[in-house]
Parts: sequence; structure tokens; C-alpha cells
Amino acid sequence: MKIEFYKNMGGRCENCGRSIKHVYVIEDDGFWFKCGSECVRNYLNITEAAKKYILKQIKEAQQYLDKKAKLEKLLETNDIDAIRDFIRDYRNEETVLKEAYDWLRVYQSRAERIMEKLNTKLNESGIRVREIYKKSVTQKQGEVSA
Ligand SMILES: [Zn+2]
Repeated sequence: MKIEFYKNMGGRCENCGRSIKHVYVIEDDGFWFKCGSECVRNYLNITEAAKKYILKQIKEAQQYLDKKAKLEKLLETNDIDAIRDFIRDYRNEETVLKEAYDWLRVYQSRAERIMEKLNTKLNESGIRVREIYKKSVTQKQGEVSA
């Protein structure tokens, strides 16, 4: 199984039907479900502590992606002073810009590594999507093709 997080994606929680700003996508055996943070536990049948751990890891990964997005914006507007402050590098402009693009890659790979580690850990713990939900998707798909 695999869990992914999409900040500001918006949508509706498939578990409780509420509209959500940030979307968690939980995938297992080719089935996938979109939900809000409150309903992650429902699909995964995990403890509150495990849920907290998952959300904390995702938040950490997201912080790197936020930094990346912020730096990308500064690079777009070519705000060299702001870029210097952001990466705390006050060498010449060419060097600072090169470093900034390196940082984009670093932030991205740090975020990816956290999510990979999280998903590996979830799989090692044997956490899966509850069978009842996989069945409900199969039924829905059956109704569509019928
Ligand atoms: Zn929900």
C-alpha cells in the first residue's frame, strides 16, 4: 500500500463526504481512496498514535516541498537578494543562482525520501486498506459497467 499527500488539491472526502482542502490518497492493491486527515484512520484501521506518526512524517515532507515552492517563486521573479537570504548564500550572483537550483533538487529529494521511508515502514508493519473498502469500490465499478 501507499499513501500520498496533495496540498491544496481540494475535493471531497470519499469516507465522510466533507469537502477537504488537503487530500490524502491511499492506494492498495490497485484500489485508491481520497480522504481528509480525519479519515485516514478509517481506511487503514490503525491506532491514533500511528495516524499521528503518519501525519507528522507527511508534514515534514511537505515542509521541504513548501520551501521548494517558495524558492522557485523567488527564482521566477529573479529576486536575487531574497534568494540570497533564503539560502543564506552571499557569494556572487551566478554562484548563488546555481546553488539555488541545487537546493530545489535537495528539497525535492528530502521530501521524497521521507515519503518513501514512511511508506516502507507502513508496508513493513503490514498496514493495509480495510478489505471492506476494496469491496465497496469493486461494487461501484461493477455498477458502472452493468
Ligand atoms: Zn472524511
